Amino acid sequence: MALCQSPGCKFEVPAALERNALCVHHFLGWLEERCAAMRRETAPSGASPARHDEIAEFIREQGERLSHVATSGSRLSDETKARVLNAFLSLINLRENLERAMERLARSKTNPSP
Ligand SMILES: [Zn+2]
Repeated sequence: MALCQSPGCKFEVPAALERNALCVHHFLGWLEERCAAMRRETAPSGASPARHDEIAEFIREQGERLSHVATSGSRLSDETKARVLNAFLSLINLRENLERAMERLARSKTNPSP
């Protein structure tokens, strides 16, 4: 099994996170960071439709990965379980933000403000 690529970390990378090359702890930190950055990106007058599709794909992919981590049977501490749930919440909220941003974009196209 590969070791986590985060500097100084000696934890193993679970199979579900091979493509991220991060341990559960560092994957959760990375995911929260990405979600926060993307939430800022989708804030009013945010990203292009192409970027929206990319973000939607990111949410789908990482959500799948996260559920593999959570249900693969590897032992997770209570603290890690709480962080996993929190990460799911971040993905759900990001997805909502994205939908709202796309609706705003659609409205501004059909009904351009002067
Ligand atoms: Zn790590």
